[in-house]
Amino acid sequence: MMTDLNSFKLDSCYYSILVNVDELWLKGKNRPFYYQALRQHIITLVKNYHWHSYKLTHEVQRFVISSEESFSEEFIQALAKIPGIKNIVPSKKVKSDLDSITHACIDELKRLNLSALNIKTFKVETFRIDKKFPVPSMSVSREIGGAILQSCTALKVDIHNPDLQIEIRIMPKNSHVSAFKIPGIGGLPTATTGKVLSLLSGGIDSPVSSFMMMKRGCDVNLCFFYAYPFVGEAVKEKILKLASKLGVFQRCTNLYVVNFGPAQEKLAKTCLPEYRTLFFRKLMIEIASNLAAEIGASALITGDSLGQVSSQTLYNMAYLDEKSPTMILRPVSGLNKSEIIEIAKEIGTYETSILPQDDACSLFAVKHPILVPNRDYCERFMAENSFQEEIEKAQRGKTHFVITARGEVKEIIPITTIRPS
Ligand code: ATP
Ligand code: MG
Repeated sequence: MMTDLNSFKLDSCYYSILVNVDELWLKGKNRPFYYQALRQHIITLVKNYHWHSYKLTHEVQRFVISSEESFSEEFIQALAKIPGIKNIVPSKKVKSDLDSITHACIDELKRLNLSALNIKTFKVETFRIDKKFPVPSMSVSREIGGAILQSCTALKVDIHNPDLQIEIRIMPKNSHVSAFKIPGIGGLPTATTGKVLSLLSGGIDSPVSSFMMMKRGCDVNLCFFYAYPFVGEAVKEKILKLASKLGVFQRCTNLYVVNFGPAQEKLAKTCLPEYRTLFFRKLMIEIASNLAAEIGASALITGDSLGQVSSQTLYNMAYLDEKSPTMILRPVSGLNKSEIIEIAKEIGTYETSILPQDDACSLFAVKHPILVPNRDYCERFMAENSFQEEIEKAQRGKTHFVITARGEVKEIIPITTIRPS
């Protein structure tokens, strides 16, 4: 197993980074489309973090980013969050001859504080990506392993369970030597599988469901229903924080904040109390569907998990699906809460999600919401009560934020023409 970054503090001496892609081997003729999308995302990120000139080349199914100036740890960590990347290998780029490769391996080992890291054993693994290279992989590993043993006398070889694995990749232009491999999030490059609108609340589940669709290559736009004035400004701040944490997985993320308070108040006053949560969701989905049509999104995403709370029964979900003009995807519907929490921790949203917040849904909610909606009542209520005015008002008054690939949040203020009076 290759040592992962967390065991070491990366110092800033990486001038070259190999980016291995995840599922693209599945994509026959469409591969160039996916590579192009990944390339664009990498370029966006480099421009956000690295101020020097750089080169991005596509070599034998992977990317190589190189520069005269070293890349920062912050950049390398950010790169690992790009969808479609299997892993990232910060490396030393050297000429493809055995002497140069050997020197690079020994330099790399000497640079690491082996005793502080408690590294006693190692293994050399060679990938002869350039099949024209005359020496077989096994022979390269054996020869370089021997040279390392002579130079670093404290080290021993362990083929099966080494403390450190030095990897050599012999590519057509150069060879790359590395001691670290940082796992990526995998999946498909951003915005290659379509555009969706995710209903983001301040809880644990919807940030995770948004992330899961980002990982599958969706361009995920976010929409928060803000129950102002029934909840305070702190709720919006929490959502902006969550959106900022999610934004680092995409090149650019839109967040729409829809003022839902008046619609929610009217609903709460008119429907049977046990139907409030269900009808809040129905209105949210109606507004979100309109917004999805406006921005060209093909599906809505929610953080519903089957049976997690009483409003998330199959019957309630089926009613909402039937009434929704837009397809609804629920990526965490089959996950247990503990599994969702695990992902939330990994992607960095958990700490924000658990901050206490005012929640208008629970403010208006009753102890026992409806589990199996009575369709006759639903039809009658919706026919007798129009929410059109509230829906239109909510849509008109929405605010728009954009989150950069670095997670910076910017409000977009529409330009209005001011005429001289
Ligand atoms: P979460 O942890 O995502 O808040 P939850 O377990 O609290 O989920 P509910 O409150 O029942 O579940 O909400 C179910 C889903 O409805 C949420 O995951 C989210 O997708 C959507 N949703 C609920 N409230 C809002 C809101 N105020 N704005 C946007 N979406 C919301
Ligand atoms: Mg919630």
